[in-house]
Order: sequence, then structure tokens, then C-alpha cells
Amino acid sequence: MALVDVKGVSKRFGGLAAVSDVDLTVNAGEVHCLIGPNGAGKSTLFKLIVGLYLPTTGSIFFDSVDITAERPYARVQRGMSIKMQAPSVFKELPVRQNIQIALQERLSGAERMEEEERLLALLDLADDGGKLAGALSHGQQQWLEIGMALALQPQLLLLDEPTAGMSPEETYKTGELIKSFNAEGMTVLVVEHDMAFVRQVAQRITVLHLGKIFARGSLEAILEDEKVAEIYLGKTHAH
Ligand code: ADP
Ligand code: MG
Repeated sequence: MALVDVKGVSKRFGGLAAVSDVDLTVNAGEVHCLIGPNGAGKSTLFKLIVGLYLPTTGSIFFDSVDITAERPYARVQRGMSIKMQAPSVFKELPVRQNIQIALQERLSGAERMEEEERLLALLDLADDGGKLAGALSHGQQQWLEIGMALALQPQLLLLDEPTAGMSPEETYKTGELIKSFNAEGMTVLVVEHDMAFVRQVAQRITVLHLGKIFARGSLEAILEDEKVAEIYLGKTHAH
């Protein structure tokens, strides 16, 4: 079943078509990766799906409901949770309080405290709850923000380059975290640049190039596709 259905969506910035006539389906229960070279339109498409941009043309459906004109907040209420490319934790507040803020709308009292502990442990931040979020490493701040997105118990978790600036070890750990959420039934859409990470987590892949869909398929099919390797690695042929 399609949880997200993007139909014929375009986004123009003046004369530039950042996203052009894109169809994209994210099925319920899958980890779907959106990949492509720099400037391909990935972040623009991501912002269209979460409602930070409205499309110039086309429609977007979530759980069969037309959400094309809905604001981001309304989409969050429907079960989307978003982590943008740049971390935006509350750096001047303790780690634990960041999680509390994310949980407070859904839970209170003992239930909230329990969920707070569970999330801190899951994110490997159990020993850092009292630290200011700004004192965490860059990778840990990314995890904290993923945790804040998870606190909403979304049906769909949307991540734009969650491993940007992470070490290979942190990147691997992030992949394992995402796989564990997915194993519990969460659908995940990830914009990603790092192919090792894509291999680790992706079930299906959509490839964007110059604002258009270039290829889509299973992880195996995309990895074997020579045309994808050429655009993704920026290779050009002399002949
Ligand atoms: P990616 O995330 O794949 O690197 P983006 O979606 O950020 O690509 O950008 C796609 C194209 O749209 C690029 O040429 C970029 O310069 C342009 N673009 C993105 N956002 C804007 C904007 N707000 N205004 C004008 N041009 C933009
Ligand atoms: Mg981007």
C-alpha cells in the first residue's frame, strides 16, 4: 500500500525547474532512499513532501488523503515526522529536556519519564541526559534530533541526509537505528548521499537527476544499474 504518493509534482524557482513532473511512491513498511547527485532536487522534493514548499503543479497524497495544500504542522498531525538536513536541537537546553519537549504533547507523568528513558537508551545518550545538547558531538546531536522526531511516534519518518558530518562508525550506527525503527513497523524515507549507508538500509530506491526521476527499483536493481553509477559517480564517457 502506498503511504506517500507523489503525482506529477513540479517545483519551479523562477526559471529553474528544481523538481520536474516527479512521481514517487513510498510503500507502508519500507525504508525508501531518495538518492542522486548534488543539485538533483532531493531536498526540494523532501520539502514538498513535508509541506515546506507548495508544488507549482501536481499532487501529494498521504495515506490516500490529498495533502497537497496542507501546512507542515497538519502533516505532522497526520503522522509524519521530519528531520531536516541541518540539526536543530535546542543547544542551550539539556539533552533530556530536548526529549521532554518532543514528548510533552503526547505523554505525561510516569509514562513520559519511561519513554524518555527508553529513547535516551535507544539513542545511546543515557549517560548524557544532563549535558547541554550543544555540548554533544555533531553525530550525537543528529541522533538527538532523530530521537525528537521519533518521540512523536510517526507512521512515516522523513530524514534529509541524517548522516551528514558523521564518522563511518556513527553512520553505521545510524543505519542500525533506522533498521530497528523499521523492524517495529515504521515507514522511513531517507534522502542520502552516502552509498554505503544506502546499501545498509534501503529496500527500495528512487534516483533523481536534474530534477527528474532517473531510475527506481529495489536496492539490488539500482546497484546493478550502470546508468545510475555513471550519473551518481559523475562519470562521463569520452566516446
Ligand atoms: P539536492 O538536495 O539534490 O542537492 P536541491 O533540491 O537542494 O538539490 O536543489 C535542486 C536545485 O534547485 C539546485 O539547482 C538548487 O540550486 C535549486 N534550489 C533549491 N532550493 C532553491 C531555492 N529556495 N531557490 C532557488 N533555487 C533553489
Ligand atoms: Mg540536499
